[in-house]
Amino acid sequence: MRVKIADCLGICNGVRRALDIVEQALDACENNILYVYNEIVHNTFVINELKKRNVIFVHSVDEIPDGASVVFSAHGVSRDVEAAAKEKNLRVFDATCLLVKKNHRAVEQAFAENKRIIFIGKRTHTECVGTIGRVADGYCYIVENEKDVDLLPDFDDEVIVVTQTTLAMCDVENISSLLDRKYKNIKHLGGICFATYDRQNAIIKLAKECDLILVAGSAASSNSCRLVQIAEKCGINAQLIDSVDDVKNIDFSSYQCVGITAGASTPQEKIDELITFVQGI
Ligand code: SF4
Repeated sequence: MRVKIADCLGICNGVRRALDIVEQALDACENNILYVYNEIVHNTFVINELKKRNVIFVHSVDEIPDGASVVFSAHGVSRDVEAAAKEKNLRVFDATCLLVKKNHRAVEQAFAENKRIIFIGKRTHTECVGTIGRVADGYCYIVENEKDVDLLPDFDDEVIVVTQTTLAMCDVENISSLLDRKYKNIKHLGGICFATYDRQNAIIKLAKECDLILVAGSAASSNSCRLVQIAEKCGINAQLIDSVDDVKNIDFSSYQCVGITAGASTPQEKIDELITFVQGI
């Protein structure tokens, strides 16, 4: 059985920066507890390692004592969260990825100019919650799939489209072309990030050479799940692997070539662990 590694895989600049900011915050906190609003990045191993170092993950600012230190995750936060942190006099370390921030600015500017905003994304994902929360409640129209486009009202004035950074390229292309057909006056600002594009293009290439692809990443990681989805769309069996324990039950006897890739939040040590294990089979 051959093992092939994707040309582009694993941790991206935004995740690396977020983890560096947590380290800086830990240093700055000395012996005090550090709070992180939402999972800093969506990876079980990373989260568990930080919990061992007294980092507390919260989903509400109410859970944080006044004056404590908090890191905002790479996925970004709403204006309400920023305001609540200020109200509680929290020391904030903002690890929002700069590409997510770019989307925040696009949404804020469109709102300031009173333009219609359509956000393509998963409504429960933290990045979506943070981005649409940059403007007034209910101002953004959220489109999760092609069916949602039919439900949108007709507008003659300008429509601004912003996209969650970690969606599948093919899904976004399909939704965007439907939106282009529906609205005459439409502008696409801010979309899938380079890291997501590069990892998705690499798995499409890998799918041509393999009959099974293992994607190192956690179920909460949008971009890792999209890699599995893309491999399956290419007709290849693909599995999300959170740890090597997930590989132990796979029967590899019928596979000629196994591909390995990893989502943008998967640390290199977890990728190396998976590669070593599969190469040893
Ligand atoms: S996947 Fe893209 S948007 Fe998310 S942290 Fe990485 S570079 Fe930033």
